[in-house]
Formats: sequence, structure tokens, C-alpha cells
Amino acid sequence: PEPLLEIKQLKKYYEIKKGWFQPVQQVRAVDDVTFTVYKGETFGLVGESGCGKSTTGRAILRLQEHTSGEIRFAGRDISGLPYTEMRQLRRKMQMVFQDPYASLNPKKTILQILTEPLRVHGLYTPEERVQKAIEMLEIVGLSEYHLHSYPHEFSGGQRQRIGIARAVILQPELIIADEPVSALDVSIQSQVINLLLQLQRDFHLTYIFISHDLGVVRHMTDRVGVMYLGKLVEQAKTEELFRSPKHPYTRALLSAVPIRHPDEEKERVVLKGDVPSPLNPPEGCHFHPRCPDCMQICKTDKPPVVEVGDHVVACHLYATENR
Ligand code: SF4
Ligand code: MG
Repeated sequence: PEPLLEIKQLKKYYEIKKGWFQPVQQVRAVDDVTFTVYKGETFGLVGESGCGKSTTGRAILRLQEHTSGEIRFAGRDISGLPYTEMRQLRRKMQMVFQDPYASLNPKKTILQILTEPLRVHGLYTPEERVQKAIEMLEIVGLSEYHLHSYPHEFSGGQRQRIGIARAVILQPELIIADEPVSALDVSIQSQVINLLLQLQRDFHLTYIFISHDLGVVRHMTDRVGVMYLGKLVEQAKTEELFRSPKHPYTRALLSAVPIRHPDEEKERVVLKGDVPSPLNPPEGCHFHPRCPDCMQICKTDKPPVVEVGDHVVACHLYATENR
């Protein structure tokens, strides 16, 4: 498979000051993240809230500036692209947000919302744009009848269909979907998931699917990256990761999900403590204060990133000298 997106050592650091007399503190929201997304696949990014998965998604689209690292899209390094060129490129890289209501302008009709990206990119004549909007509405399960309605007239599921239509109308290559079904009722979630899967087949889309919902991620993705406090701690093919997680954090995260396959053996791992803040993360392995397998070296040294079978894991347990 051909890589579409290559992320290398992506970092997003920022500084905050909690009060006038407090020292400046550094938040390492995304800390040295490396992964590749191949054409036509769905790559999941999972982890608890605050782990940096949304920031990673936004940094890839340059909706938020990153601190350092390389972002290659279709072979081209876009990490330093000026804003004007990046705007052009957004036609190829779109985002679907968690809350379609917040991301759709309440003062605009569906027709305006759907034709605007086409207009901004100078695509088609005005008449053709209307036609495209109608076609797109039908593809996502709405109709021409909705063209002149406003976002508030729709249900949450319908609004997400509109948000998806707006992203797909440009015929992008990559869509980053950040918790696209988390705000929806469970009964609606699978409809929207199925729509995303159908669009992926019909329009040859590549997805990055960001979610904390492991059931949805298992259903939806081909490969997964697990994030913890700004670090990518494990990546593998989805079925492989769920069947045989390697990183202690992945094991703990997955042990909370009900078993679906009889060949899966799982012990329930209960983590100690809360997710620490990305402000002043623990030394060494960020996960060490909660890790059931913590060794002395974990408290001081950053874990190496190693290949374990088809997994890529950042953990001292798998370093050659500890195996
Ligand atoms: Fe646990 Fe050490 Fe591996 Fe971190 S590096 S996950 S503390 S065993
Ligand atoms: Mg998020």
C-alpha cells in the first residue's frame, strides 16, 4: 500500500501560566508522534481525553500550528507550507468534527453551507454548485427538500450528515474525523458509521478516525495508534491490537471493553490513579506511576520505540536487553 500521510516526530508544545505569580509551565500536548497512514485505510487514534489525539488531528491539517516535526501528504512535506498554499491543499484534506452544531454556521442555509467550500476553491459554476449540493445531500441520506433549511432545524444525526457532506463535497483524499459519532445517540451512531464506510468505498477516501470509543474503533478501523499523555505508545493492525495488546496501557484500556471473540484472553487490569496532567508529565515513561509492570528504569528513562511482531510499541518491557 502507498502511504498518503507520513507523520514524523510531530510535537505540539505550548506554555501556560496558571496565575500571575505562578511559573510558566510547558504542556506537551503532542510529544514526538510518528505514524503513517496508507491510501484507502482507516487509521484510528485512541486514548482517553487529553491524550493529544485531537491536537494531533488538528496539527496535521494545520488548523493548529505544531511546534516541530514533519507532515508529509502524498509525498510532499507540508509542515512549513504558507497559509495560502495550505488553504489550497485543504481541498484534499478535510475534517469532520464531533459537534456538527458548533461547526455549522447557524445563520447559513444548507445550500450555502454545502456550496461555500466549492465557491472558496473556485470550483464549478453557481448552477453546478447547487446541483452538486443536491447530489451530495442525497448521497448522505437527506434531500433537495432540505436545501433552504438552517442547521437548527435538523436532528443531531442529520447535522452530522450535513457536516460529512460538506467535507466530502470537495472530493478530498483524506478525512480526519474527530469523535464524529460521540455526540449522537447510540441508535444513530451506527447509521453515521455506515455512511462513513459507504463514502469511503464510493469516494476512495482515507480516514483518520479519532475516538475514545473502542467498540466503534474496532468496527471502523484497519490500524490503530494508542496515545497516552501526548505519546503514541502502541500501533498495530486493529484486530491484532485487540487480540493481543502489547503495551501495558493498551492492555489496561482494552481490558475495560467486553470480550467479543472467544480466543481472546483477558484479565481485567485496573489502573492506579487518574490520568496525570500533560503539564509536568512523569519522568521516564509517562505511564510509569500507573503501570502494573513498572521497572526501575521506567522511572528515569524514556522507553525505546521497538517493533514487536507487527506492533510498534514504546515500552521498556520490549527493549532487547529486558526481553
Ligand atoms: Fe510500564 Fe515501563 Fe512499559 Fe512504561 S516503559 S509501560 S512503566 S513497563
Ligand atoms: Mg478530543
